[in-house]
Amino acid sequence: MDFHRQALKNTFQPYWRYFYLVSAWPNYPLEMAKGNRFCQNLKVARLHEEASLSQATPCVEIAVFCPLPHTFAYIWPKEFGKPEAGLRAIISFGRGQRTGVIVNTPVNVPEGIECKPVIDRLDHQPIYDAKRIHWLERAEQYYTAAPGEMWETALAWAAGEEKRRWHCADKDALIQFDPGLAEAFSNRSALSAGTLAKRLPPSGFHHRLHQAEASGLLQEVVPEPDTERLQMGEERIPEQLTPAQTIALTAIEKAEAFNPFLLFGCTGSGKTEVYIRAALSKIGAGGQVLILVPEIGLTPQWLSRIRKRFSSVAVWHSALSDKQRRAVRAGLADVEVLIGTRSALFLPLPRLSMVVVDEEHDSSFKQQEGVAYSARDLAVLLAQEVGIPVVLGSATPSLESWRHIKSGQYQLLSLPEPIVPHPSPVPHIVDICGSESPLSESMLKALQETKQQGSQSLLYLNRRGYAPALNCTACGDVPECPACSLRLTLHRKRGQLRCHACGFIRPVPHVCEQCGEDALLPLGAGTEKIEEQLEREFPELRFARLDRDAVRSEKKLLRVLSEFSTGKLDCLIGTQMLIKGHHFPKVTLVGVVNADLGLSLPDFRAGERWWQQLTQVLGRAGRGEDPGKIVIQTYDPKALWLSKIGDRHAEATLDEELGRRQVLNYPPYARWVRIIFSSGNAARANEAASKMADILRQMPGVRLVGPMPCAIERLATRYRFEILLQDETRKHLPWALSPIFKRLPVPPGVRRKIDVDPVDMM
Ligand code: ADP
Ligand code: ZN
Repeated sequence: MDFHRQALKNTFQPYWRYFYLVSAWPNYPLEMAKGNRFCQNLKVARLHEEASLSQATPCVEIAVFCPLPHTFAYIWPKEFGKPEAGLRAIISFGRGQRTGVIVNTPVNVPEGIECKPVIDRLDHQPIYDAKRIHWLERAEQYYTAAPGEMWETALAWAAGEEKRRWHCADKDALIQFDPGLAEAFSNRSALSAGTLAKRLPPSGFHHRLHQAEASGLLQEVVPEPDTERLQMGEERIPEQLTPAQTIALTAIEKAEAFNPFLLFGCTGSGKTEVYIRAALSKIGAGGQVLILVPEIGLTPQWLSRIRKRFSSVAVWHSALSDKQRRAVRAGLADVEVLIGTRSALFLPLPRLSMVVVDEEHDSSFKQQEGVAYSARDLAVLLAQEVGIPVVLGSATPSLESWRHIKSGQYQLLSLPEPIVPHPSPVPHIVDICGSESPLSESMLKALQETKQQGSQSLLYLNRRGYAPALNCTACGDVPECPACSLRLTLHRKRGQLRCHACGFIRPVPHVCEQCGEDALLPLGAGTEKIEEQLEREFPELRFARLDRDAVRSEKKLLRVLSEFSTGKLDCLIGTQMLIKGHHFPKVTLVGVVNADLGLSLPDFRAGERWWQQLTQVLGRAGRGEDPGKIVIQTYDPKALWLSKIGDRHAEATLDEELGRRQVLNYPPYARWVRIIFSSGNAARANEAASKMADILRQMPGVRLVGPMPCAIERLATRYRFEILLQDETRKHLPWALSPIFKRLPVPPGVRRKIDVDPVDMM
């Protein structure tokens, strides 16, 4: 019998089944007090169904990069040396080949079951050590991911083995060592593994390369790290810390074991300086530091600020080229500071001694595709596993972290005052009811004054494109995406309507397609429309747009940021990209074009997010020596929440919102899990959701809402239905789910997405 085929066929009654017995992990993994108490509670028992193991073949257990809920057994050929957990391997799987990771060794396979041998060993050393493997196992269980899926997510940085290049300096020696390999190096230049692979038999190919490298006969050709730099004004290194900074720094420096901190300080209060000094101290003791930031757009600025302070800084994000990736990967052991977006979390810095999560409240830390992990939460878990301090920083902390402060699980470090004391500007509220143009007279006047003073301004609008939608004033029709239940956004310059969810693009129609009238008008204002008004009414203003449409490449982003930093631009118009942690000392005016956007979404976090965004936006004003000015345009000038934005109210606002969540029993008090079923066929998705709901309804202690259509009912041609599970005790979810998911297959044509601690409720 072919073991693999058998296992694949009977996915839900596998011949070989592991029972993951997770005993008493009573709470959210982050709710561990100091130390590793909860790790010890995590007992993973692996039982074999077959009793007779006496004459078994020794094999390795591999998490294959696929979404099946099992691991698989393979024979480990002797010539690959000693098998170890954390080594990647190439194996045959189904009809093709895949990569996987050894998660357990040796394992015994019952007699009569035929296992295939591993085709190649991909690593000379385990790619993760025991602590990181354990960390990943906990992540896998928390997010109810398949083992191979979790590993694939984590090791995405190490993919692309075939692109690595090797150089043979001494061919004669290589001939002695491995004649076949030596022959493949036909000339003296470096060759990629991909090219070499075409000249050699696949079995054990990478292993041979690594053996030769370990014996000093091959050298990896490592690309030069990238030198693209952001041009910024000089920033002085502060000579002396403020008393509040000193207290914060001392606490972090003293922390040698796991210790979660929340560094809570308004914009400009000197958080970055605290991170830098804490990092210097850890590096001085031989450690390495990981800094996670929410957006790619923030990495250039971070780099320019800290490059001078450390001797070796690396950057990691999704837009790096293969070459840059290889450079970072090859330098992991030597780098002092690694700055990156959420995926940087998975790079195994061997001497990691502190993790910083800047702007920890930011929802970009939550992965939306594949395993829906939170990089912030996994960073805390990693720090716990490795036994190091983790510093979460924000001017507007998440309610999750605020709750941990209130319960004493995180330590609060406060920087209550800005470094440069200035009176907090009182926002000037402008009623825009009935106004035709996106920018009011008051806003234009403020822009003019700012320019005359030689200062800069930011205009914030959380919306790309020209206008959110096109509206037929005759029949009221609004063109929608044919694949999603969403309005199309008008991009006038390109003459297009676009779907911001799935990327669908079509030309702008001339007449309404429903009623045939020539009465289509833009609805609301996007960044493009503001540009148009400024060009018309304020031609001297030198401005640029900063949003995903305008800044497609890293180069362009660097150029816009550099021009603004060096005063070649007066004004930046932008979306969220603009507000996240950028430090522009010459900005004195911040204008919010429409403060009402985003509040009316059907999501209980809409208010929290809105408050965080607006407070961040306002924090951009007056960071230098000049006082700031704030103009907020709104359709609802009397709204209560307008009084809550700004740093001064942060603590009271957090307390109030947390109190409300407690009364309602919403997250972060209750733990929620959202399960989305999607399919091109609505009935099928609905049926799968109903079946699942019938089973989950029997779970004790868990409230089930749904199944119901998602707020975005259709996305990229797929109909979506959701089930929302709510666990007020936080004891059952998500651990009770895995066994159920393993039992209940997803019907063909339907996708099931599990989102633990969802932040996106749409
Ligand atoms: P945050 O990260 O909280 O927004 P930053 O660390 O960027 O704040 O600090 C804001 C500005 O104040 C920066 O220009 C920084 O160099 C400066 N700064 C920070 N700490 C001090 C200090 N102790 N003395 C003088 N200037 C400081
Ligand atoms: Zn769409």
